[in-house]
Amino acid sequence: MVANATCVIDTQLTMKVNDTTNAFFFVAHNGQVVPNFKAYFPGLDMLGKHYTVSNVVGSKVKRHYTICNVMQPKVYSTLVNHLKQGKTTVNEIIETSSTTSGENSSGKGELTDLLQTVDTNRMMFVIKNYNQPFGLSQKFFTSPGSWYEVKGPMGKSLNVQSTGTHFAFAAGTGVLPFMDLIAQLAFYNLGMKHLLGSKTFEDGFKLKFYVSFQSRKDAIGLELLEALQDFCKKHLKDNFELNLRISNEGKQRRWDSSFIEEQLKGFNSISVHKVWVCGPPVMSETFDKTFDAIKTADPARFGTGVLEVL
Ligand SMILES: Cc1cc2nc3c(=O)[nH]c(=O)nc-3n(C[C@H](O)[C@H](O)[C@H](O)COP(=O)(O)OP(=O)(O)OC[C@H]3O[C@@H](n4cnc5c(N)ncnc54)[C@H](O)[C@@H]3O)c2cc1C
Repeated sequence: MVANATCVIDTQLTMKVNDTTNAFFFVAHNGQVVPNFKAYFPGLDMLGKHYTVSNVVGSKVKRHYTICNVMQPKVYSTLVNHLKQGKTTVNEIIETSSTTSGENSSGKGELTDLLQTVDTNRMMFVIKNYNQPFGLSQKFFTSPGSWYEVKGPMGKSLNVQSTGTHFAFAAGTGVLPFMDLIAQLAFYNLGMKHLLGSKTFEDGFKLKFYVSFQSRKDAIGLELLEALQDFCKKHLKDNFELNLRISNEGKQRRWDSSFIEEQLKGFNSISVHKVWVCGPPVMSETFDKTFDAIKTADPARFGTGVLEVL
């Protein structure tokens, strides 16, 4: 069911993600509960879907915003803490949560409390200010008191498979469609399987995640990515591999066609289920061209829908 509600931004909940990007909570008119406004969509099928937001008054500009539940500030910091503490069983996590968090008296562990699957009156999106005078994103930053129409979920799922290798190349806000996948992999590795849906990871699942940011200051979700990487190294889990590129840190290799081909070398659609790309237009163009060249040179190597520029 597609939710459709008139909402206002709750300015008290707004949190800065970086200098140009905020987490905004859109709350339904009169605080009414809206079917499919949720703090959490468990399972692999909802990953990558989005909502649309449009202004109610004036010219109706409609823009897309990705579901990224883990970026809710409290959820994010709790998950990063769990990974940093390096606990691997639910009991250990519950113990730590109830001794380190004054907020939680239920003993269930904060993530379970925060990640509710029931319908609620709000949806959170992480939005970058593009500062376009007639664009919509700047309005969330400058006129949070306005009314907005929020509609979703809609769009294509990432179509994550339970097993096999998945590649993602993401830059800037392009990291957002993958953040809930990263979170679910973290829950899985932490032994918090009760937070995953019925279709979840199996042995043999692997995510090779390539992420590029201009600088650490401009990054989104980096603390979580690095915490999951450290956790995996410490606990000898090989289902997540982070390849980080920070443009202003030393001489970083560009993601050009030779780099892309090198990363995919030796792989074909039997071993690789998906190669996703999400980033600014110039980056998408490079990947589009390289994927076309790969497919033309060797049509049997990657089947339909494996190489996907989002
Ligand atoms: C599926 C999907 C999911 C998305 N999820 C998110 C998300 O979670 N968070 C997020 O911040 N954004 C997300 N976006 C981007 C978002 O939908 C908006 O595009 C963004 O907020 C900018 O909108 P705007 O109206 O402020 O700016 P716009 O006016 O749309 O301008 C944005 C940029 O595009 C350029 N531009 C605009 N029109 C043209 C044109 N005709 N030709 C060339 N360049 C042009 C502008 O110069 C500017 O740099 C998503 C987009 C898609 C398609």
